[in-house]
Amino acid sequence: MKIRSVDAAWLHCPLDPARQHVSDFGRLTAFDAVLVTITTDDGLVGYGEAKPAVGSAGNGAALVAIVEQELRPQLLGQDPRQISRAWGRGYNGTRSGHAERQGRAMPVLGRRGAHSAALAGVDLALWDLLGKAHGCPVLDLLGGPCRDRVAAYASGGWADARTIGEQLAGYTAQGFRAVKMRIGAMDGSVTASLARVRAARDALGPGVEIMVDAHGTMNVAEAKRFCQGAAELELRFVEEPVASDDRRGLAEVRAQSPVPIAAGESEAACFDFAELLEVRAIDVLQPDLAIAGGLTEGLRIGALAHAHRLALAPHCWGSAISFQAARTLAFACPAGVFVEVPMGGAPLLRELARIDLALHADAQHAGVMLPPTGPGFGVEPDPDFVRRYTVAP
Ligand SMILES: [Mg+2]
Repeated sequence: MKIRSVDAAWLHCPLDPARQHVSDFGRLTAFDAVLVTITTDDGLVGYGEAKPAVGSAGNGAALVAIVEQELRPQLLGQDPRQISRAWGRGYNGTRSGHAERQGRAMPVLGRRGAHSAALAGVDLALWDLLGKAHGCPVLDLLGGPCRDRVAAYASGGWADARTIGEQLAGYTAQGFRAVKMRIGAMDGSVTASLARVRAARDALGPGVEIMVDAHGTMNVAEAKRFCQGAAELELRFVEEPVASDDRRGLAEVRAQSPVPIAAGESEAACFDFAELLEVRAIDVLQPDLAIAGGLTEGLRIGALAHAHRLALAPHCWGSAISFQAARTLAFACPAGVFVEVPMGGAPLLRELARIDLALHADAQHAGVMLPPTGPGFGVEPDPDFVRRYTVAP
């Protein structure tokens, strides 16, 4: 089996006003991702996703160029089943031979950011192909699920103190037993963030897990004040209280926080997560598979979480492809405790392909998802949707 073609398409889906939300990132008016399509000489097609931004809106032109101009020449004619080797070629570039012989990475300059995301798109497409070649879900190739079900949490919560309870109750009405709300710079002060979270807890009562996400917008002193002030509110975790560049600051916050700390959505590769763990900065690892280097790297990050007795909760704010890959990772890793389900406008999650996003409940569990089904990641993009939203870089 050989790789015959590698193509990338920037999908740009404008959101109609009813599906837009406002956060510290501003008003989100679009949802973007880069769809990577790899075909083989025996007619298989694999789909991957590369993300230009951690939120939904971002310019995908650079990712298309990296996939088609840098990574494609490394891939054409190669065996698509050698995924780890393809990852090494993408990460190490012209020195991949030395890296293979010496057993350590010798990365290209763009080992973080756009290059890592482009490599993620290729990696996910290759895993999808491997599952299809075997006629089974990718999860089966990883040893199968570690558990029968994974908790899903509703990710949204942008409303003010007066209406946040109602907004989050809208999520629990859909079956979620865990919800995440935004805090931080958009509130203007720690006091205002705490008031919104207190209003949410009062509205939801004690039976619902609440997480909060500051998008890295607090300073260390503010983050400490928030975590201390939230001690009685029974939060499952505080996500990115301070900027991702400030690993030591995050460690300082965690050392004094009664609430667990989550982070990692904008990090790339296991090396970034290893540094976070070395300074004891986080309790919950949140790699985004369409940013951090795909499933290959996600499995390495999941192993780090397991070895350090921490939790893995992949960041999901992308298309059906990265969602199903993250779901696969959560089931494959002993540390995988959560998947995130975006509550904002997310046409690439809900309309690119038909996937099962149903929540399940029984006597012991509610708001959980079952393992993904279908060959590969089980995502077959609708060609009309892809045509309609593909923009020329
Ligand atoms: Mg986040």
